Amino acid sequence: MKIIDILNNNTLMLSFEVFPPKTETAFESVKTATEEIAKLRPSFMSVTYGAGGGTSKYTLDIAKNIKERYGVPSLAHLTCVSSTKETVKQKINEIKAAGISNVMALRGDIPAGLENADRSNWDYKHAIDLIRELKESNPDFCIGGACYPEIHPESANQKEDILYLKEKVDAGCDFLTTQMFFDNNLLYNFLYKIREAGITVPVIPGIMPITNANQVDRAIKLSGSFVPQRFKSIVDKFGSDPDAMKQAGIAYATDQIIDLYANGITNVHVYSMNKPEVAMKIQSNLSDILGK
Ligand code: FAD
Repeated sequence: MKIIDILNNNTLMLSFEVFPPKTETAFESVKTATEEIAKLRPSFMSVTYGAGGGTSKYTLDIAKNIKERYGVPSLAHLTCVSSTKETVKQKINEIKAAGISNVMALRGDIPAGLENADRSNWDYKHAIDLIRELKESNPDFCIGGACYPEIHPESANQKEDILYLKEKVDAGCDFLTTQMFFDNNLLYNFLYKIREAGITVPVIPGIMPITNANQVDRAIKLSGSFVPQRFKSIVDKFGSDPDAMKQAGIAYATDQIIDLYANGITNVHVYSMNKPEVAMKIQSNLSDILGK
């Protein structure tokens, strides 16, 4: 089932993100965690892709299992920047063979040390190159793209970022999912600007429940997200008490989702990070709203 066909404009729907194991030994435990999340019957589940391709086999194994065993539509992520045309072609064929029709088409981060390298002879420079290829080779795929309410760290400014985003969408994105953010106003401002720029596809906000203090630094370093004082106070107060921090982080994410829904956003993606207990708690906090 294509994600674009299940996005809903009336009631709140949650989707969850998981990531594949890095090693064969971790496969079973990750598979079990993703199955526990699938049992919550989210609108879809996305499975990330190791940028260097190291865990790519597991991305498809997990995505296929969720779809076939639990009937939950799955979205397989695919990055391109450190790949050759040949490898990407093979990956696309594998996605097709696994019966998956939803692909999150990403550039991926530039490998360390190559930030200033001459990219003129790279097979893929930006996500748009992959999107064009996917659209041409498999017009039936439903294609997602990434977007950044607080701009991508490599962009000079938001105007430029949105200009490239518009090109990316026009190349064939059916929907966009956002980078995490901790202040919903940033998302509302971003939506206003991209709609003004003529980007009309559905945008699924991505919410990351921060459940331990260490995760805060890591998540922020990765995303460059602004941390509101309200959230900093929570980490100051509860950061040294793991259970309290987890509860407060889940409550904060729940609150963000309620505010998004109250402001007309019906599809929200939760970065649940292979933590079924976090996905379950968020879902149970919203049970009356979700009707589950
Ligand atoms: P692009 O869309 O190519 O954008 C990257 C930068 O290039 C931006 O600054 C953009 O403005 C600029 N740009 C875009 N097009 C052009 C152009 N034509 N000319 C000049 N500049 C241009 N990483 C993983 O490794 N695996 C994952 O599974 C994964 N999943 C993700 C899911 C989501 C929802 C998000 C938000 C990010 C995810 N990432 C993942 C991280 C992502 O790979 C990085 O943020 C990466 O640096 C950018 O990827 P992109 O697809 O947004 O790139």
